[in-house]
Amino acid sequence: MTSGHDPSSLKQWDHSFLWHPFTPMREWMAEDPLFIARAEGNYLFDQQGNRYFDGVSSLWANVHGHGRPEIVEAIRNQLDAVAHTTMLGLSNIPATVFAKKLIDAAPSGLRRVFYSDAGATAVEIALKMAFEYWALQGETKRDCYVSLTESYHGDTIGAMSVGYSEGFHARYRRLLFPCLRIAPPHAFRYYRRESPGQALAHALEEAERTLRENRERIAALFVEPLMQGAAGMWAHPVEYLSGLHRLCRENNILFIADEVAVGFGRTGRMFACEHAGISPDLMCLGKGISGGVLPLAATLATEEIFEAFLGEYEERKTFFHGHTYTGNPLACAAAIASLDLFAKENTLARMAPLIAQMERLLQPVREQDHVSDVRQWGFLVGIELAEDAAARKPFPAAKRIGKQVILEARKQGVIIRPLGDVIILNPPLSTTAQELERLVHVTAESIRAVMKSC
Ligand SMILES: *Cc1c(COP(=O)(O)O)cnc(C)c1O
Repeated sequence: MTSGHDPSSLKQWDHSFLWHPFTPMREWMAEDPLFIARAEGNYLFDQQGNRYFDGVSSLWANVHGHGRPEIVEAIRNQLDAVAHTTMLGLSNIPATVFAKKLIDAAPSGLRRVFYSDAGATAVEIALKMAFEYWALQGETKRDCYVSLTESYHGDTIGAMSVGYSEGFHARYRRLLFPCLRIAPPHAFRYYRRESPGQALAHALEEAERTLRENRERIAALFVEPLMQGAAGMWAHPVEYLSGLHRLCRENNILFIADEVAVGFGRTGRMFACEHAGISPDLMCLGKGISGGVLPLAATLATEEIFEAFLGEYEERKTFFHGHTYTGNPLACAAAIASLDLFAKENTLARMAPLIAQMERLLQPVREQDHVSDVRQWGFLVGIELAEDAAARKPFPAAKRIGKQVILEARKQGVIIRPLGDVIILNPPLSTTAQELERLVHVTAESIRAVMKSC
């Protein structure tokens, strides 16, 4: 049992041997790390038994709560059968069954599942598939991608190139391949002083210009549908998503939906593309795909893309890509159990009134001092804080406002995470009405407490 280790040696080992992701390590090593020893339902527990609401679903992944017996049982059963083999030259039962179920659940045009183990790998795969799809048809000039400004698609080189977040990736700039960017209709950021309607029209005009003028060299457009998560929950309207899809069709450009964050119910529908009634050419899935319990990702493709890779052995049309743990049976068993729970518990229907409740709960937060914007799509929420809310003048970075707010919330038994000074709420889909109320209440109070002291 890990909980048997005494806290002081764990702290020393953490500080001596670990390197945490996205973590300023000097600051980390000056603080006491919070060790999560176990979890149950929507709660995490530290070694002392203190209970915390998991307000960001353990990095946007957990779906039905922790320790769900149906998922645990499925993993145990699979563990008794076989933990891992390989998908190179062999198949396995959970990967096959999950592929069938996933295609049944996915937008209608998607017909093939290519597994990997992280959102970033799902993106790398989509990027290579799109490039090679064109090349196999003699369109060898298609080596350019388009993406939204401040989109996030993961931290590997290809994913950073198509994504590119100034805050995270600036240091790697010289390593990244160039991409074309289009600005989303984010009224206060790019289209200041415009109405949402004008911003939408202008953003679509910009997209149309970029796609049309470069259509011969563009392989694909990458989009995080409806919500640019890691940018700080930047929302865009359904019309922008459907507009981009239409522009891709008109200009013969592949449309790639990165649903790593928004997929599996986060926006209130199984996949965000459903809100716009569109089916992408490629779709990247990760995070919640396994219920948020084991690493798994998938890239879904249309049959048309898949068929371009069919040929005689000597033609070398094979998609030369794979990872050791591709289609891992344990992760796929968890994914099947998670997808079955959506049906059994009517998760999406149950969420609908809770999404409306979240909207109501956030209404007074919008009016709070130093809250410059609140953005929501389903259970995905970003609360932006600013020194001067009306002018949207940010706090000096050194003040670490976002971090202070989440530490305050932690004292109240709620775990959330900031992205800069945007406070992110992204609770498990199994969150109850009472828990939502507490999550928003504690967040609002924590913001108030920090603002009073600064
Ligand atoms: C988290 C995320 C990724 C990367 O997923 P990892 O599993 O962390 O590699 C890619 N795209 C989006 C939209 C994400 O939110």
